[in-house]
Amino acid sequence: MSCPECRRQAVGSVRESPRETGTPGAATHTDYSGRVQMKRAYKFRAYPTRPQEGRAARLLADHCDLYNAALEERREAWRRQSVNISYSTQSAQLRAIRAGDPNGQGRHSFTAQQQTLRRLNVVFLSFYARAQAGGAGYPRFKSYNRFQQVLFVAGDGARWEPAVGRWSYARFRAVGSVKVRQHRPVTGMVKTLQLKREHRRWYVIIVADCEPVPLPATMRKAGVDVGVARFLTTSAGDVVANPRFLANAQDVIANLQRRMERARRESGNRKRIRRQLAREWRKVHSRRRDFHHKTARTLVNEFDVIALEKLNTRAMTRRPAPRPDDAGAWLPNGAAAKAGLNKVILDVGWAQFMAILAGKAEEAGRRVVLVNPAHTSTNCHQCGARCHRPRQNLVICPEHGGIDADINAARNIATRAGLGSGHTSTV
Ligand SMILES: [Zn+2]
Repeated sequence: MSCPECRRQAVGSVRESPRETGTPGAATHTDYSGRVQMKRAYKFRAYPTRPQEGRAARLLADHCDLYNAALEERREAWRRQSVNISYSTQSAQLRAIRAGDPNGQGRHSFTAQQQTLRRLNVVFLSFYARAQAGGAGYPRFKSYNRFQQVLFVAGDGARWEPAVGRWSYARFRAVGSVKVRQHRPVTGMVKTLQLKREHRRWYVIIVADCEPVPLPATMRKAGVDVGVARFLTTSAGDVVANPRFLANAQDVIANLQRRMERARRESGNRKRIRRQLAREWRKVHSRRRDFHHKTARTLVNEFDVIALEKLNTRAMTRRPAPRPDDAGAWLPNGAAAKAGLNKVILDVGWAQFMAILAGKAEEAGRRVVLVNPAHTSTNCHQCGARCHRPRQNLVICPEHGGIDADINAARNIATRAGLGSGHTSTV
């Protein structure tokens, strides 16, 4: 059953940000349900041969040159004539550029080059938006070692060849047919292939259209409180603790960081430590991603509707500015405590978890509802009275007594999403 305030809407893909519903100011909901077409991304490790790797590096460098040349053109046009050059203008020049450079730009896929120009266009669009909001840094040139990916349109300069035996292959124009370790099946129509370099590894990212496969209804709905002390708490009282590996990894990383700073610049030792550091970070990222996938999977399997707070993690993790009080004295604002908290929140990686949850919910035909977070932790979920909070994990309602603060918050979230009393039974 959907909330009357909630107008369902179709959203093209997980990465697009959901629009608010309801009247401005009174918006309490963002609803992810009822999408028509979904896209799903798969990231696989690729194992190019030595010659292929050389050609792939050349591909990245040529695309980097194209990107920088297009950026230069936009800069000059603005500097000399205050003219904005559009994507379509730049795209129209591609034919001539390719014809004039048959052994360089001319070797590459036309549509992939268009994608690189589009990528620059996206950078400019966000620059214009930031410029309107005040300060903005002008888009910068990219160096070869910061230009790490090229996007191809499937069937045009790139092709996906799923595994017959042990290996799958991704064929890219000007690179060749690259061996890929495919650890899960790709379903649906492949739309794009991306060749990406990360440190010294290569990956192929495949985006395919897919149809949702709805899970059977469980008739259960839940509010979910996300936290710092615990990863999450549901209105049903389920608790998922924070993974400890993050704290453990932190020690290892801090230690390596120190050693690297002490090592002589340009030395082999420093290079080796840097590589070790990169490996540790990769490990943390992949273990955290794995944890997010498993946690999201459990929620999606158990609940038809999942309500969460709309958290602005960027605002939460920003270091608070000191404030003067009425008399002009500077009050301690808990900046140090907040900075510690920031670290934990960043470690928890909420944005990633939300994106994963939204994706899985969409595939399973489940709903994710985001609600306004104001006062969910301090008001009683039964009567709405302001509670007393003697400890971080406990709230006491003058009428209803004490309850676990996170469960109380989770039930408030459920109520705000229109899921009845906030308990996980039927509405
Ligand atoms: Zn109460």
